[in-house]
Amino acid sequence: SRPQRIAANRASLAVRCEGFTTQVKRNENIGKLAAGYLFPEINRIKGEHLAKNPDAEIISLGIGDTTEPIPDVISKAMSEASLGLSTPEGYSGYGAEAGQMPLREKLAETFYPGMIEGKQLFVSDGSKCDISRLQMMFGNSVSVAVQDPSYPAYVDTSVMMGMTGEFDASNTQYKNIAYMPCLPENNFFPDLANTPRTDIVFFCSPNNPTGASATKAQLEELVAFCKKNGSILVYDAAYSIYIENEDCPKTIYEIEGAKEVAIETASFSKMAGFTGVRLGWTVVPAELKYSDGWPVFNDFNRVMGTCFNGASNVVQAGGLACLSDEGMAAMYELVAFYKENATMLKKCFDDLGFKTYGGVDAPYVWVSFEGRPSWECFTEILEKTDIVTTPGVGFGPAGDGFVRVSAFGRRENVITAIGRFQKAFAK
Ligand code: PLP
Repeated sequence: SRPQRIAANRASLAVRCEGFTTQVKRNENIGKLAAGYLFPEINRIKGEHLAKNPDAEIISLGIGDTTEPIPDVISKAMSEASLGLSTPEGYSGYGAEAGQMPLREKLAETFYPGMIEGKQLFVSDGSKCDISRLQMMFGNSVSVAVQDPSYPAYVDTSVMMGMTGEFDASNTQYKNIAYMPCLPENNFFPDLANTPRTDIVFFCSPNNPTGASATKAQLEELVAFCKKNGSILVYDAAYSIYIENEDCPKTIYEIEGAKEVAIETASFSKMAGFTGVRLGWTVVPAELKYSDGWPVFNDFNRVMGTCFNGASNVVQAGGLACLSDEGMAAMYELVAFYKENATMLKKCFDDLGFKTYGGVDAPYVWVSFEGRPSWECFTEILEKTDIVTTPGVGFGPAGDGFVRVSAFGRRENVITAIGRFQKAFAK
């Protein structure tokens, strides 16, 4: 219950809750979030494991952070831009909030040829930040649907904004969110015929955590669903470069009519190793309008101009280098490396008799534990192998029974991890 949760929070933060207090009332929407914390809980269990086994050599296939160095064609461009800042010719201060035009145009030409123009695209410090800024733009009176399971930022920002009700411990869902179960039974694509109308629909393909990527026919159905309901689709294409299935579009704008309903957000994080460097972008087509005919683009432009001062100029030089011929080749090599990790991990679990999903068009392998609680499976894996994975339920209630294994890792760690899985789970 809520009081119990608050008490538990207070207990865990006991030191900080004591003493002088201001007169400021806590934002109750943020208070609702406490129940759903994934990575701190993982760290707590990992900490306990390490306390019991101080010599354990932990391998993390958990959080989904990149591990491979940035190709030097890209880092050199950032280094040159950085040194250039020390010269009068190379110096620049505030730039356009939506990003440097050459980068916007190159992104459009590379990822949306003939579909989107550079001026419809906002360059940013990453996709996660754009998701929050989109939510700020939508405001708290919209209704939201999410894939279940999905990347936690959609739900958590909806909760923070006040779009949802309380967390319901009985079904581990927040009230007023339409959860769209994505399970092996429906090929990880929601049953739209039984999904209620919402204002906003978040959809991620390839999906984090399931690794499922939607086909053209499925995306046509999704766009038609949004159009019928007059909803805005927020399409997260953060992993689109990982897609190899030719039936799966790499952008929502390959679907006819998508420009009237869809915003697309994407990122350099998982294709260029920019998780720490920070660079992403979001497309808001001119054709996308609110019910009163006002272009959504204008409002997002206003939000970006007010809340953001443009991505780092040094990093934008890196982004442009990513999109050069040499940069693209280097990024594909990087992606191929992680995809090979994914293939090896998937094969390992397949050979051990597990049912696995994903891991082909995405850097995540979704391993089924046949309905067993995923926290229990996560803990068992950690105890038996000293490997940190991610419990599926952390991505939504329909993720229970699964564990996500990330393919982001050094090759030697992946090989060691596979050896440990084989030893621990051999039948
Ligand atoms: N979208 C999805 C589906 C992700 O998994 C992630 C990162 O893990 C992001 C967005 C965040 O990307 P960025 O690093 O650009 O903020």
